[in-house]
Amino acid sequence: MSYKYTVKDRFLRYVQIDTQSDPEATSTPSTEKQKNLGEILVKELHEIGIDNAHMDEYGYVYASLPSNTNKKNVHKIFFAAHMDTAPDASGTNVKPIVHENYQGQDIVLPDDNSVVINHKEFPMLKDKIGQDIITASGKTLLGADDKSGVAAIMDAANYLIQHPDIKHGDLTFLFTPDEEVGRGTEKIDLKKLNSDFGYTLDSGEIGHFEYENFSADSVTIEIKGVSAHPGYAKDKMENALKIAAEIVARLPKYTLTPEVTTGAQGFIHPVKIDGALEEASIIFIIRDFESENLPKHENLLKSIMEDVLAGYPNSKAEFIVKKQYRNMKDHLVKHPQIIEFAVEAIKASGITPVVGKIRGGTDGAMLSEMGMPTPNMFSGQYGIHSKKEWTTVQELQKAVDVVINIIKIAENKGK
Ligand SMILES: [Zn+2]
Repeated sequence: MSYKYTVKDRFLRYVQIDTQSDPEATSTPSTEKQKNLGEILVKELHEIGIDNAHMDEYGYVYASLPSNTNKKNVHKIFFAAHMDTAPDASGTNVKPIVHENYQGQDIVLPDDNSVVINHKEFPMLKDKIGQDIITASGKTLLGADDKSGVAAIMDAANYLIQHPDIKHGDLTFLFTPDEEVGRGTEKIDLKKLNSDFGYTLDSGEIGHFEYENFSADSVTIEIKGVSAHPGYAKDKMENALKIAAEIVARLPKYTLTPEVTTGAQGFIHPVKIDGALEEASIIFIIRDFESENLPKHENLLKSIMEDVLAGYPNSKAEFIVKKQYRNMKDHLVKHPQIIEFAVEAIKASGITPVVGKIRGGTDGAMLSEMGMPTPNMFSGQYGIHSKKEWTTVQELQKAVDVVINIIKIAENKGK
């Protein structure tokens, strides 16, 4: 592909705009400042020549390119990335630094010498020699998660406009707020997406492609103990806090817990305890790649609860299971071409595909659940949510190539 990429300059521009989202806020977007980036994207999309680009009241940016092929049955595809950055590290005054022609050294960040990007933590650095690494300056995160995806999609749009000879079906580009606070799909307008399926560009290492994520439920145990004056509590009091503590203490320690599980293993994980003497509640998240394992984990938890309650005859507890989301594989196996296009496109870009599992959820998982299958593609992200976050110019460019190749392959396979 002989083309003057715009992805690096776009990336450097976008990361300097503070778009940190706020987990406490209930508005959409959770922080108004995310719209500052949205406005720039709309303006740049107009400059590229996509006049229909616009941002809605919730801060979602949509742009579409109508089909230019004579073929009738070409899949309609969207590409999405999130504009916000994680609340875990500051996103204010991000000063990106390009370390051109990286020579394999540890990278000490100038604004805080204690922040060092080293080989122990990032063994993949040895594969990046000769590339141009982009870091922050030591006081903030970089925002490669997910401005790498945003910049790559923007550059792909630019590429298509500059190469009208490339045939494609209907395409939509989507930029969302609030992914990092778990609300990135809340206000997506599926009609506007006008797609059969799509891809998020929000994964880490080059070549990575993920179409499996955890299936997820939450469990709330609501405990009603028996209150009494502590001075006169003998044979009366049943302390809800102690019941809650006992349930947590009896959880499996060597299996089924985040601290000891990896790969395809699931877990039962308490995330919050609230309460007082008379009433207490515990919130758990239950995770597994096999949806049918969720009820098994839940039954185990329920039996622990019942065992503990047996020692408190006048107390009660309610066990409330709520479905959160499912492994997108459950949806994607019905549309094998979504995976084929992606794997082929990665190969066509000269990269070895690494198909992995996400030990978490993504916007794509939520979208798949909403009936819009959306696996996740790499965009070049390392050390995310931290001051050590970095990416490389060359991987950003590869992400652009993969998007273009997916679009070409989809058109090729159309009839
Ligand atoms: Zn992300």
